[in-house]
Amino acid sequence: EPFSFASRHLARHITCSAAVASKEETFTYQAEVDRLMDMIVNSLYSNREVFLRELISNASDALDKVRFVGLTDAKALEGREQLEILIKADKEANTITIEDAGIGMTREQLLSNLGTIARSGTRKFMEAVKEAKGDANLIGQFGVGFYSAFLVADRVTVYTKSHEEAQQWVWESNVGSHQYTIKEDDSGDNMVRGTRVVLHLKEDAQELADPIRLAKLIKQYSQFIQFPIKLYSSRK
Ligand code: ADP
Ligand code: MG
Repeated sequence: EPFSFASRHLARHITCSAAVASKEETFTYQAEVDRLMDMIVNSLYSNREVFLRELISNASDALDKVRFVGLTDAKALEGREQLEILIKADKEANTITIEDAGIGMTREQLLSNLGTIARSGTRKFMEAVKEAKGDANLIGQFGVGFYSAFLVADRVTVYTKSHEEAQQWVWESNVGSHQYTIKEDDSGDNMVRGTRVVLHLKEDAQELADPIRLAKLIKQYSQFIQFPIKLYSSRK
């Protein structure tokens, strides 16, 4: 229910910033991924709000996957049966959070999916950017969606928990840093399962942390999403 989602999220941030960064590892993006991110950030400036479509579609894919696994392994769904997407706008913190109760990622999956392995569409995408005249809508056509988060965020934090592993992991990256970090989430605020993407909005994107604006975008982008999407806002 709305309030608990908001306060849980807030609590996480306080704990996280105070916690000792235990066993945090730093990785450099694979060169092609790095170039891709660079292009997304520096060459696409119109229709930046497509990031939301991409992250919702990733959430939906992750929910599809866990639903499928759940058909033969009911344990995969245990403790979090509700297959849903939670989106939160936090004007004060200048963040947008997209959480799903999907398949989540193990450490190994996190490592290869976000940063190490270039998506198959990457090369073609980079060629097409030149003709796109700055239109971020291009991203959807090439399966390079996750990195569109950096269209609007200067820092992206991904919390993820797979049913296959006991630990919850935190992935984080700052725009333009060429690096990302991964560590075990020792904040004690673990999800049963799923992925939570926190976008720390760029100064010129902060107007997006507005529930009314988000509601419109969600409506526009989620017509074909089969899972419930719940929008929360933390207003004080
Ligand atoms: P695509 O969705 O076309 O595969 P993306 O760049 O959008 O490309 O995402 C890269 C990969 O990261 C996905 O294939 C998936 O394995 C992983 N991923 C991204 N978001 C999530 C999520 N919310 N839950 C689980 N895995 C995810
Ligand atoms: Mg995607």
